[in-house]
Parts: sequence; C-alpha cells; structure tokens
Amino acid sequence: MRRRAFIGLAALAATAIATPIVRATGARIVIVGGGFGGSACALLLKQADASLDVTLVDPDARYVTCPMSNEVVVGARKIDSLTLTREGLRRAGVRFVRAPAMALDADARQVRLDDGAKLAYERCVVAPGIRFLWSTPEGYDEAASERMPHAWKAGAQTKTLAAQLHAMDDGGVVAISLPTGLMRCPPGPYERASLVAEYLRRHKPRSKVLIFDANNHFPRQSLFTEAWNAAYRGLIEWIPSTEGGTVVAVDARNGTLRTGRGTERVAVVHRAQQPCEPRRLRAGLPCVRHRVRRGLVVAFRRVPEKADAGRDDAAVVREPRAVVEANRTRIGVERVRARAHEAHARASQALAP
Ligand SMILES: Cc1cc2nc3c(=O)[nH]c(=O)nc-3n(C[C@H](O)[C@H](O)[C@H](O)COP(=O)(O)OP(=O)(O)OC[C@H]3O[C@@H](n4cnc5c(N)ncnc54)[C@H](O)[C@@H]3O)c2cc1C
Repeated sequence: MRRRAFIGLAALAATAIATPIVRATGARIVIVGGGFGGSACALLLKQADASLDVTLVDPDARYVTCPMSNEVVVGARKIDSLTLTREGLRRAGVRFVRAPAMALDADARQVRLDDGAKLAYERCVVAPGIRFLWSTPEGYDEAASERMPHAWKAGAQTKTLAAQLHAMDDGGVVAISLPTGLMRCPPGPYERASLVAEYLRRHKPRSKVLIFDANNHFPRQSLFTEAWNAAYRGLIEWIPSTEGGTVVAVDARNGTLRTGRGTERVAVVHRAQQPCEPRRLRAGLPCVRHRVRRGLVVAFRRVPEKADAGRDDAAVVREPRAVVEANRTRIGVERVRARAHEAHARASQALAP
C-alpha cells in the first residue's frame, strides 16, 4: 500500500471511530444517480440495514446498460434487453425520485431538485457518473453529437449509431475518434471497433473502420491487435497519435474530421467520450476525502483493479468489485495517482452511532 494511501486510511478510520455521526436506525440516505454505482449502493445499504430510509434520485425512470450496448450497434441485440426498470429497488424498499439533482448543500445536508424541492439527508451518496467535455475537439458539441453519435450513454445514441451503420453503403468508412486521458470504458472503443469490423466483414466487406487515437497505447493492445490481424486484416486500421491519429476538429454537417494527417471524409463517425465531472454537485465539498472526514457525503466510485499507467480511471465503476466491497459494508473512495484523495471508510461506521 502506498504511504499516502495508508495515511489516508488511518486518518479516516480514526475519524470514523471517534465521531459519533448519526443514529443508524431510520437514518435518511439520499443517493444521487441511479446507475450501477448508485443502484448497487442503494440495494446493499437496504440489505445491510432495512431500517435505513434510502432515496434514490435519477431523472430517468429506466436505466439502459452500457455493457453489451456494442451488440445493439451492430444489430446483434435489441436495446430492450439492456433496459432495466427500477423494480428491484422498489421491492427492496428504496424510494425512487425521478428528477435531476441540481445542487448539494453539504452544510444544510440537503439535495436540491430541479423543481426546487429539497431532500434532507443524514448521509448523501453522490454517484452521477460522468459527463461530456463538449467542444473537444473543436466543433464537437451537443448538436454535432446527434450526427456523430458518441453512444457512450446507452439509449437513443446507441440506436442512432446502429441506424447509421446499417444505412451506410458498402465501401463506406466508419471512423472512431478517441481522446486522451479519462475514458468511461477504457477497452470499450476497441471492442466496438472489433464488433463493427465483424459486421462489415459479413455485410459490407468493402468498408473499413479507422480508429483515430489521440493515444499511442491502449488497454489489452496485444490481444486486440492479434485478433484484428487474424480476423479483420484490412478491415480495421488503428492510427495512433504519433501517426496523426489525434482528431483536432470535426465538421458534423460535412462528415469530415481534421486529424494530424489531414482532413478525412467518412460515412459514420463515432466519437468516444471525453468526460468531465458534474462539478455542480460538489458545491462546498472541496475533495472526496474531506467529504468523508466531515461524515457528510460518501462518494461511491471505484477504479479498476489495475488502472492503466498514465490513465485516470476514477470514473469507471467495476460492479463485481463494488458489490464485494459493499457486501462487507465498506464504501470505498479512491482517486488514482496524483489526486491524493484515496480513502476507505466502513459504511457501518459512517452510518452507525
Ligand atoms: C459502450 C460501453 C461499454 C461498457 N462495458 C462495460 C463492461 O462490459 N463492464 C463494465 O464493468 N463496465 C462497462 N462500461 C462502463 C460502465 O458502463 C460504467 O463504468 C458505469 O455505467 C458507471 O456507473 P455509474 O453508476 O458510475 O454511472 P452511470 O452508469 O453513468 O450512472 C449515472 C446515473 O446518474 C444519473 N445522473 C446523472 N446526473 C444526475 C443528477 N444531476 N441527478 C440525478 N441523477 C443523475 C444518470 O441519469 C445515470 O442514471 C461500459 C461503458 C460503455 C460506454
């Protein structure tokens, strides 16, 4: 364990033990965000202590999973099979509020919703996932994403990308543009490229996939490269940053990309996600560790078992691991590398007297 992490753990453990924060029975917990992270947390808290008053806040009545959505893009699966209701949570006794949380007031211990209503809490879990950093590259804004879908939030965008792929003529070029740094699913774009190549091989063999990558390495690169060479030679071309792979601007109307190697005209463009954190929800909360130490807010986010060197994958939730951890009633908060907010706190300690 790194020294910094150890110091963080020791300090947090000491704080959690020394600070009688709230009564456990009937404590109100508001969870912002009903994705994998927030939903798993809600369920597991209820299982750990049925008396907890758990409210989950999310603007969407249903949740469409990103895992397996690549299969929808290539027509191998219907999106309905990935669309989940929140029925299991309701059965478990979790209250669902369908609304976006607009702000969090840590001092008043309230979450404000879009209609101005306020939800009071003793503990708040913030799990709203990640958002797009628009206009990176130049020209890629929300309107452009309707024509050049990112499909990194499963749902309407997934269907748009699938429709474009199916409408494309044989001989068309499918471009995938990848940013540096944070990525919602580090191997996801390469997995998507593989599935699209398989689709092209079967249905549009004169077409190809170009991966414009602002990076020079990617996760599981040797495995992907081996598979591409064996099964999709000539169908997939990976263009790393050093060979001009960085996309600096897009023109969604004309279907062109300005890359380090010139302007490329393509039939279908899919832009991978350049995420940023929803900072509005951090109001008054200088850092994750601070939140935990104040005993007010616990962020429920996981990093992968092995974060790739040079990448900050703090936004990636690894569900199986999260479940195991939460089963031990421990909520983990980790930020990788130099961010220095690494900490663990026992949920039972955080929630109990
Ligand atoms: C194509 C693709 C394939 C993937 N495949 C895998 C895989 O095979 N395995 C894997 O482990 N991971 C995979 N991932 C990654 C996985 O989808 C994410 O890690 C996971 O969804 C993150 O969960 P989360 O709960 O943190 O955020 P999200 O799933 O993004 O959920 C966040 C929730 O918060 C809600 N929200 C946002 N803002 C607010 C607000 N202000 N108020 C209230 N609610 C709000 C949103 O509506 C959403 O429901 C994949 C991702 C992609 C894009």
